[in-house]
Amino acid sequence: MTAIYVHIPYCIKKCRYCDFCSVPLDETASIYCDALIKEITLRKKQYPDLHADTVFFGGGTPTVLPAADLVRVLESVNHAFPLAPNAEISVECNPKTASNEELRILRQGGVNRISIGLQSADDQLLKRIGRVHSFQDFQNTYNWSIQAGFSNVNVDVMHGLPGQSAEQYLQTLQIVTELHPHHISAYSLILEEETPLFYDVASGKETLPDEDQVADMQDLGIDYLSSVGYKRYEVSNFAIPGYECRHNLTYWNNETYLGLGVAAHSSMEERGKRYRFANTESIRSYLKAVEKGKIPEAEKILINTFEQMFETIMLGLRKTQGIDLKMFEDRYGCSLLETYPAAIERNQTRGLWDHTDPRYLRLNRRGMDLMNTVLLDFKDTNYFELLRP
Ligand code: SF4
Repeated sequence: MTAIYVHIPYCIKKCRYCDFCSVPLDETASIYCDALIKEITLRKKQYPDLHADTVFFGGGTPTVLPAADLVRVLESVNHAFPLAPNAEISVECNPKTASNEELRILRQGGVNRISIGLQSADDQLLKRIGRVHSFQDFQNTYNWSIQAGFSNVNVDVMHGLPGQSAEQYLQTLQIVTELHPHHISAYSLILEEETPLFYDVASGKETLPDEDQVADMQDLGIDYLSSVGYKRYEVSNFAIPGYECRHNLTYWNNETYLGLGVAAHSSMEERGKRYRFANTESIRSYLKAVEKGKIPEAEKILINTFEQMFETIMLGLRKTQGIDLKMFEDRYGCSLLETYPAAIERNQTRGLWDHTDPRYLRLNRRGMDLMNTVLLDFKDTNYFELLRP
């Protein structure tokens, strides 16, 4: 599977916790989609045979741009990298940025999955984290998405927000699940350096729930969502069975993906070798490069096989299904269990594996909570030991 990611680096206004590559809408926005289409032409020369199974417009807030422009980009992607007939095509959308009509244009233009950023159903909390919308705005966007014909809808929620209680978080989940979205992404706030929220917390103006409170909220969320029919299939992602996000599964399966647009990251194979690369983070440099017919890449690195193996483990263990052992062996020509015996054994002693299906290496719920510690054991593997005759 190959996925295509399209980055739209604009938002109405920056949220207080955000360090994603996005800026408030400016004059470059009107020419950005034309630049994307130019990049697609350049990438087509690089990957003439590429076919895609999923497309994801993320950001930023893609829906701050006219829906017709996003559809134009999608058509260009489809022309260059023919999409599978059942391709999953997602657009991230924030409440207050898409009208009923815009959502209809997206749906009619081939978008079949919409991902709405709510974060919390509590208006005070939304204000505190700098979101530009209210819960009512979200409700409108949700209803319009359904009326526009979307039958695959994700809602993003967050826990660990400033001053947020477990009850408030649970209430948000209850309100959201009463709408029956097909997918829920439930992330914990990460306090990123140099964001306004970071400085407020550092100066004591804002207080975040402590580590234990955040862990309790996460547990509460997992239990509640599973009690109402949402299966946890990745650390922070839950779906009605059959509605797991195929695009994000491409990342967690460490398959190839091509990123288009400012700051977009890619992981692609070229002549049998795997490379990771990223486009420039400067909108102006991006526009200038594609205008001159140049690929707007800022960096490109070769990923050796051992690094790929570790990445497959690191990403694969995020899934509740775990890592398919046969896939690993077919991909790298070695058995995962025999290549990492010390890491497997160590975490066996700690009781962190789920042994319900021998075809997979899978963490149990406690293991998923301790993922970083588990991964350190795999990272410490001495591959040169393994290469000795
Ligand atoms: S809407 Fe999303 S990308 Fe935009 S500022 Fe807020 S968190 Fe960042």
